[in-house]
Amino acid sequence: MIHDMAALERVKLWIPIKSLGWVNVYIDPGARFMVDAGMLSGRSALELATVLKGKGSSLCGLDGVVITHFHVDHSSMAALLAEAGSPTLYMGWRDLKVVEGGVEVFIRSALQIFMESGLPKGEAEEILSSHPAMRLKYAYDTVRGLNWRPLREGDTLVIGGKRFKVLELPGHTPGHIGLLDEEEGALYSGDVLLQGITPHITLHDWGDDPLGDYLSTLRRIAEMDIRVVYPGHRDPITMPGRRALEILEHHRRRLQEVADLLDRYGPMSGYDVARRVRWRVRYKRWDEYPMAERFFAVGEALAHLRRLEVEGRAERFWRGGVVYWRSVNPPVNGG
Ligand SMILES: [Zn+2]
Repeated sequence: MIHDMAALERVKLWIPIKSLGWVNVYIDPGARFMVDAGMLSGRSALELATVLKGKGSSLCGLDGVVITHFHVDHSSMAALLAEAGSPTLYMGWRDLKVVEGGVEVFIRSALQIFMESGLPKGEAEEILSSHPAMRLKYAYDTVRGLNWRPLREGDTLVIGGKRFKVLELPGHTPGHIGLLDEEEGALYSGDVLLQGITPHITLHDWGDDPLGDYLSTLRRIAEMDIRVVYPGHRDPITMPGRRALEILEHHRRRLQEVADLLDRYGPMSGYDVARRVRWRVRYKRWDEYPMAERFFAVGEALAHLRRLEVEGRAERFWRGGVVYWRSVNPPVNGG
C-alpha cells in the first residue's frame, strides 16, 4: 500500500481568478491548523466550511493559521477565520510590514514606478480599479487590524504534533515564507515554486532587487535535500530541485532577451520593454492584453531590468519625466 507521508492535507479552494482556478490550503489531521487561508468569497468560504465540518472542526474552530505570503488569494480569508474564531495568526515579518503599511499603498507605489516607466496614466487607473486586491480592500482592512505574529528564518511551529521550520524565501513577495517538514523532506512553499507556470516577480521600489532575491531562493531550493514541494497552486512537485533549476534557466534566458532588446533598440522605457518581450501568452498584440496582464508584464519587465542593473549590464536615466534603460557595454556593431 502506498502511504501518503504528507503531514498536512491539501484542500483546493475555488478562487475567482480564472487563470489559476484554485488555491491550495493545507490542513492538519485534527483540522485545527491551516497553512494559507485562501481568498475571501462566499463560494470558497462555503467550500472551506464543508471541508472543516467533515473533519470535525469548523470555521470558528481553528487554533492557528499561517500565511505563506500576503497576496489576496492566500491571505484574505484570514479576515473571516479571525472574526469567526480566535486562531493565532502568523505571517513572515517582511510581508507583515506590507500588510501593516496598507496593501493599497504597496500597489499604488508599484503603479507610481510603472508610470515613471511609461505606463499611461489611464491604464494605471484601470489596473487599480480592476486589481483583485483592491476589490478585496475591505478584507485587507480587517486583516491589517488583526493580531499577527511575525515569523522569521529558523522559527519553529508545531502543527498537529509535528514540527515545522520556517524558511524565508523572498522574491515573489518580499516576506514570502515556507514551512519545512524536515522529517518528511517536504516543503509547504506557497508561490515559490509552481508547476507549468513561473511565479510572478515584480518591482515595487527602485531600491529593491526582487528577481535577485528570487534567484537566490531558487538556488537555495535547488541545493536542498527535499522530496516534495506542496505549492500554493496546481499539483505537488515531486522533483523540486529540477523545477527550481528550470525556473532559474527561464529567468536567465529572459534576462538575456531583455539585454538583447536594449542592445538592439537603444534606450527603452520599462513599458517599451514590456511590449516587446515574447511573453508566453495567447495575445498577439499589446492592445489585446487585459489590464491585469499589462500590470504583470510591466512589473516583470522592470524586475528583469533592475536585475540587469544590479549585475552591471544595464543602467537607467531620466528623460522627459520617464525612466529609460540602456545597455552597459553594448556590442561594437550593436546598432
Ligand atoms: Zn502569490
